[in-house]
Amino acid sequence: MISRVRVLESTRVTPTVHDVKFEKPAGFDFAPVQFCGLELSTGRGPIEYPMSLACSPTKPYLEFGARVSNSPWKEAFAALGPGDDAEVDGAYGHFVLDETTPAVLVAGGIGITPLKGMAEYATDRHLPLDVRLVYSSRDETEIAYRLELDGLTRQNPRFHVLHTLTRAPKDSSWTGRRGRIESDLLSEASRGLDGPTYYVCGTPGMVQETYRNLLGLGVAAYRVKYEVFRGYGLE
Ligand SMILES: Cc1cc2nc3c(=O)[nH]c(=O)nc-3n(C[C@H](O)[C@H](O)[C@H](O)COP(=O)(O)OP(=O)(O)OC[C@H]3O[C@@H](n4cnc5c(N)ncnc54)[C@H](O)[C@@H]3O)c2cc1C
Repeated sequence: MISRVRVLESTRVTPTVHDVKFEKPAGFDFAPVQFCGLELSTGRGPIEYPMSLACSPTKPYLEFGARVSNSPWKEAFAALGPGDDAEVDGAYGHFVLDETTPAVLVAGGIGITPLKGMAEYATDRHLPLDVRLVYSSRDETEIAYRLELDGLTRQNPRFHVLHTLTRAPKDSSWTGRRGRIESDLLSEASRGLDGPTYYVCGTPGMVQETYRNLLGLGVAAYRVKYEVFRGYGLE
């Protein structure tokens, strides 16, 4: 389904992450949480990028969050303002929440987008599921959607977040976990869960490393779902 959608809100949520909420077209439905093609008018003409939806289908809007860069699409995304329009094609994909098993969500940086949507869905639908989110960010200022995630943990006693910071300065006031998402953190997140499904989202390198770590912990491959944010010039 291809729809033209109007911007409701456009917000810089961290120094490098921009979030845009669009009107949700009538009849637009998606599973928690698929991705769309999002076509924007850019300085080089219309360009479409695949973008995960960053909200639950229970919300009355469509939301996307992108790590900004100076590519034409990203500049156009960050410049969107209320009333501007874009074209949404979707939704697509199989990276969706299994409502019958506990969930361990593993986010590397901007890979948080569909996982935030899954956590919102489990909360809004009052799913009787334990949901644990392991979320790695560069430093404290780069934790996207922190307030929203804190709000979800207050609303949903079965939702927990384990943050880790990979590049927090040694002298910063952060007292939480530091370092990449390694096996010990994945074990901690899985503790006490009966046959969880793992949902891993981030850059190709992050997804590959996490997948290997999970298999190393004895997790069966069929229990690991992943969404790879291909396309960054860096990888
Ligand atoms: C299923 C899926 C979901 C995704 N969801 C998100 C999300 O929620 N948030 C997010 O930030 N990213 C997401 N991505 C990645 C996104 O589509 C971009 O590829 C990525 O953000 C890098 O864009 P960039 O322009 O900053 O890349 P840069 O590193 O600046 O790119 C270098 C060059 O490659 C070009 N390029 C990069 N990516 C694309 C592309 N996809 N199509 C055409 N040209 C490209 C750029 O124009 C530039 O010329 C997703 C990708 C997939 C496959």
